[in-house]
Amino acid sequence: MKGVALLILLLVAFTASQEELPLADTCDPEACQLPDCRCSGTSIPGGLQARDTPQFVLLTFDDAVNVVNIETYRNTIYNRRNRNNCPAGVTFYVNHEYTDYQLINELYNNGFEIALHSVSHMTNQTYWQEATYEDMTREFGDQIIQMAHFANIPSDSIKGVRIPFLQMTGNASFQVMADFNLEYDCTWPTVSHINPGLWPYTLDYASIQDCIIPPCPSASIPGPWVIPMITWRDLNDTPCSMVDSCLAVPSTEEEWFQFILRNFERHYFGNRAPFGFYIHEWYIRASVNPHVGRALIRFLDLINTLYDVFMVNSQEVIDWVKNPVPLEEYIQRPCKTYVPTFCPPATCPVVAEHNENTYWMSICNVCPRVYPWLGNPLGQ
Ligand code: ZN
Repeated sequence: MKGVALLILLLVAFTASQEELPLADTCDPEACQLPDCRCSGTSIPGGLQARDTPQFVLLTFDDAVNVVNIETYRNTIYNRRNRNNCPAGVTFYVNHEYTDYQLINELYNNGFEIALHSVSHMTNQTYWQEATYEDMTREFGDQIIQMAHFANIPSDSIKGVRIPFLQMTGNASFQVMADFNLEYDCTWPTVSHINPGLWPYTLDYASIQDCIIPPCPSASIPGPWVIPMITWRDLNDTPCSMVDSCLAVPSTEEEWFQFILRNFERHYFGNRAPFGFYIHEWYIRASVNPHVGRALIRFLDLINTLYDVFMVNSQEVIDWVKNPVPLEEYIQRPCKTYVPTFCPPATCPVVAEHNENTYWMSICNVCPRVYPWLGNPLGQ
């Protein structure tokens, strides 16, 4: 009987942990303090005035990195510096399939941030919507090991997550992040908190953020941070999370430059919540939308001359929010550092067990036995 009772108790506990985590409480600012806790809200961290607050700019690219898109990256973002003379940062949310890991090593060794965008990038959005803790472990927990191994970069340099299609998975992804020491998520759009903008926050307490692509997290999950994707407004004032998802957009370089500026100024002349330029590379590719690519370069050239604007890796924003210092002090700080790594190159034809395709992998390690996939991230 005792055994049965214990089993029932364990089953109840297991079910509860999967589905019925208690709802998070309303945030208590007295109990929730930096560096590890912050209530969701639009107040500037540290109680700073906007004029004393660094304006961070987050340029991010999603999906596989390979020979198709590396030229755009080399031409657009390499060798940029902010006005404080620190190298500019950009974050890449990378999924595994068709990624050239030698190029990931190159991006990392140019000071850019490598973050996670899943192993499978499954195209069925319901798969993400209904994803369990186990699914998210195989997509993101395992991807840390995979990325570090094949790109030969330190696993502790990998801190960020963006779920495909910006499809939230309720508590699951954040529980996995907490258990795998991932520091921030940048999946969750807001259309309600754009002016003033929502600053990054933790999930110790209930979030005030609008849930655009449910399910959003409901439980108290200490650890990971949310970097809200503050939406842009297109020419019709319709919100868009990714720049390439804006519908009413200009048609010339000059108009695009002005369009970017108008969205940027909502942050810069507002509460200086981090300004996101979230995009897929194809949209700015010279052979697709050369005018958009040129407008972006003009925008980056401009902000790189402003003394209070900083194009940074996303994890630098979390570092600052945890320990917010005024602009004048921030400018004096030493630049970010990283441990350079070498890529011992290999090119390997490997067959995938899930679809029997042969993939040519370009990696910084020995060739795997089979094509790495869910449940077998190293292809052993
Ligand atoms: Zn994607």
